[in-house]
Amino acid sequence: MVAGVIAAVFLAGATTFIGLLAGPVGLVLGALVGLPLGAAFGWAIGSTRAYDLRTPRGLLAYVVDFTWSLPNTIAGAMFLAINLARGNKVEPTYTEGKRCVHLGKGTFPGYLTTIGPVIAGVSENVHAHEHGHILQARIFGPLYLPAVAANWVIATVLPFWLLYHDHARYPIKNVRAYFLDGVYPHNWNEAWCYRRYGPQR
Ligand SMILES: [Zn+2]
Repeated sequence: MVAGVIAAVFLAGATTFIGLLAGPVGLVLGALVGLPLGAAFGWAIGSTRAYDLRTPRGLLAYVVDFTWSLPNTIAGAMFLAINLARGNKVEPTYTEGKRCVHLGKGTFPGYLTTIGPVIAGVSENVHAHEHGHILQARIFGPLYLPAVAANWVIATVLPFWLLYHDHARYPIKNVRAYFLDGVYPHNWNEAWCYRRYGPQR
């Protein structure tokens, strides 16, 4: 529980500090945004003991998530708060000791979504893949989301991936296929996780 309280105070403090840099109005906005985020994330990890701080892996993930990977954790806490407000529930079985917050329902039909250390959706053969994204966020920290976004933009306007795409298995015949079978799986973070953790496409 202490881990949750510290996380809540730290997240609210971080957004308040970022707001303060923009002036007094920013400070108030930062606090208003940060308090519910901190409360949601702190409660989620505290009540489920998501990070086992007695183990080196749990402690390291906890420290990294609130330092180097803090921008990803803030993004994940936002995602979590929105999901909880819409009635999604934390799955304790997939969260306790797993160094993540795992929500029961997904955001897009047929897909699981991971933002920072928050996973939405349950489909056991895809969990390793989603944990791969959490690892990527911890490795690349503040660079992760910009690098993923940049790849999306470049791969959309300049489809270099068409050169090595498996056209026989995944023909690109319409806009939906262009994004779901082209831009998305060829993004560097997705190509990495599909290759390393599956599931088989
Ligand atoms: Zn993925």
